[in-house]
Amino acid sequence: MGKLIVGNWKMNASAAMAEALVSALISGVPEELFARGGGMAVCPPFPYLAQTRAQLAESPVALGAQNVYPADSGPFTGEVSTAMLAELGVTLCLVGHSERRHVMGESDVFVREKLEALLQADIRPILCVGETLAEREGGRQDEIVGKQVRAALEGLPEHWLRRPIVAYEPVWAIGTGRTASPEQAGAMHRSIRAQLEELGGAELAAAAPILYGGSVNEKNAREILQQPEIDGFLVGGASLKADSFLAIARHAIG
Ligand code: PEP
Repeated sequence: MGKLIVGNWKMNASAAMAEALVSALISGVPEELFARGGGMAVCPPFPYLAQTRAQLAESPVALGAQNVYPADSGPFTGEVSTAMLAELGVTLCLVGHSERRHVMGESDVFVREKLEALLQADIRPILCVGETLAEREGGRQDEIVGKQVRAALEGLPEHWLRRPIVAYEPVWAIGTGRTASPEQAGAMHRSIRAQLEELGGAELAAAAPILYGGSVNEKNAREILQQPEIDGFLVGGASLKADSFLAIARHAIG
């Protein structure tokens, strides 16, 4: 499968910066990545979704959101529904990002509710999973990530199980400048794929995109992508610089 490169801007940028970043991305999009079945997406903060959508109208780069609330409408001050996102042309949405799990205290149950709401609205979830440093040092990474994957996906009907993109993001590698070694990432991707096989069978697991995230940049992207299990990246910091994000995307051409 072609590689997928997704940028998570987190709570960064201004309207002007977002506009400049997207316009630089559009002019540098590596068409070969798309020709090989790969793709690119950006996940700006909510206030910049509309302007980014307008800019991306003629571009193959997809529009993602960073969050959603699992209800159609109602007294949920500060929250945003799937219908609102869909109206803005959002086709992908992060769920379970470690900053939301650990800073905002989101539980596996809440992540599952969001994921189901997205599937219901035909917005593709990017399900982020990953262990903390203490969990890895205790040798518990497979157990922790496996639990997160099952909590989100177990029991979903097959047509839904085919939709999520999983992003393995070790918490200790996010925004720290420290990446998992290609071998650590590759091993975890195999473990996640084995989980998916248990949940939905071999064919579904083989076709499921599994991204790596955690301090990916233009210098380490090529080496990490040597691992055949890695289907692309979820990129935080380096997605805020068009040159870096485009260089990562070019490394993903193959
Ligand atoms: C992320 O936000 O998902 C992420 C991986 O961030 P960074 O690339 O900055 O580590």
